[in-house]
Amino acid sequence: MGSEVFDVLGIAHPKGKELDFQLKGARLLSPDSTKEYVMTDPKQAGYLLNRLEFGQRLLADAIKEGVDFRDNVHVKAAIQENGFVTGVEISGVSGKKEVIKAKILIDASGFYSLIREHLKSILIENVIEPEDTILCYREVLRLKDTVAECPDYITIHLTQDLAPGGYIWYFPKGKDIVNIGLGGPQKKGEKVGDVIRKRYQENCLKRMIKGKYEIISSGAGVVPVRRPLWSLVDNGIMFVGDSACQVNPLHGGGIEASMRAGWIAASVAKKAIDANDVSTGSLWDYNVQYMRGQGAQFAALDILRIALQHFNDKDLNFGLKKDILSGKDILQIAYAGELKLNMLDALTRVFRIGLLDSMAHSDLLINLAYVHKLMTDIKHLYETFPAKEKMENFHLWKKQVEEIYKKIKRAF
Ligand SMILES: Cc1cc2nc3c(=O)[nH]c(=O)nc-3n(C[C@H](O)[C@H](O)[C@H](O)COP(=O)(O)OP(=O)(O)OC[C@H]3O[C@@H](n4cnc5c(N)ncnc54)[C@H](O)[C@@H]3O)c2cc1C
Repeated sequence: MGSEVFDVLGIAHPKGKELDFQLKGARLLSPDSTKEYVMTDPKQAGYLLNRLEFGQRLLADAIKEGVDFRDNVHVKAAIQENGFVTGVEISGVSGKKEVIKAKILIDASGFYSLIREHLKSILIENVIEPEDTILCYREVLRLKDTVAECPDYITIHLTQDLAPGGYIWYFPKGKDIVNIGLGGPQKKGEKVGDVIRKRYQENCLKRMIKGKYEIISSGAGVVPVRRPLWSLVDNGIMFVGDSACQVNPLHGGGIEASMRAGWIAASVAKKAIDANDVSTGSLWDYNVQYMRGQGAQFAALDILRIALQHFNDKDLNFGLKKDILSGKDILQIAYAGELKLNMLDALTRVFRIGLLDSMAHSDLLINLAYVHKLMTDIKHLYETFPAKEKMENFHLWKKQVEEIYKKIKRAF
């Protein structure tokens, strides 16, 4: 994750055991591995966190602030009374059921959120479609007789052949430890065990790790890679993190994104409780602040994700080799969800590609121009997400967003 978020939240940057490694930047490899972009962001450093240590620090801080921490409980469902969420039903290790009442329930229970799945709401969708998710598998390896490649950079290999609709990642943590894995769209009925692990072993492990190694840890999971939930709030309830689909659709990173969202949610929740009003209207400002910022960026990246999953390796090799997009452009897209291209830029790129090549790949160029337009349109819509005073415009706004999705899905 980037370092900037720690300043935004005003919390200490990770160091010591919490910080596995500090990176210089990222490398993006073309499908045939002949072209690489090296991207460094002058505004922030790249941290490879020790997720357990970092989580323990946040937990300790929360307990110090007075949080009553209940471990080993299973949340079964939200309690809804008179149109408001008023708490949760839980069961402990003994299986004994209990009710916890709450002024506001903030659901941060990840992708498989039972609360979202069973909530009765006209604002919030219960189901996240498999086509909007990626199935990931990764192992952390200690290399025994080789050293990590380019240890100061994370490497992302875009390849439809080896990771259909997704990519392979190779994140070194120093010279002898690497986090290596792959992700791709989930198909109905596809199980982690049979497909993704086999693909990982054949397409990542065998090809990228030549010497002996020890597996330090392994893990698989599903990540939502789409626009955020239509609304992040309803009467008495808020959603944060994977349960709210607050993950960067392009690279599937959700840790930094959920920290930023959690920060906004907490400040809005506090204001609502202080005002003794936990209605949708009172919590709406979380929607407004999130959708107009990170939400706008992620919605635009979702449009790009849908398009990218349909490009073939030939087009991707061509696009990357001919510098249709520069490393700076890719950074701008990844961090801001937009690409500002003026007419002169566009013409310069056609000349750089050459007229014959441009004609041979005209479909790709036209598709890219269309994707660029839809990304700009959706970003604008999210940046003008209806304010609290105009909440009645929400359904119209939603319809306009749906129209853009219809267009991108028709095109790809
Ligand atoms: C293989 C893989 C690699 C990834 N790599 C990266 C990466 O390098 N960088 C990055 O930024 N992101 C990465 N992600 C995504 C990232 O892990 C998630 O976006 C992030 O963890 C979301 O945080 P969260 O708190 O919303 O949900 P989670 O981390 O999923 O936490 C939810 C918590 O709620 C608990 N819970 C769920 N249901 C219940 C229930 N009913 N009762 C009680 N507790 C419950 C769970 O046990 C869990 O502890 C990766 C994901 C996968 C699967």
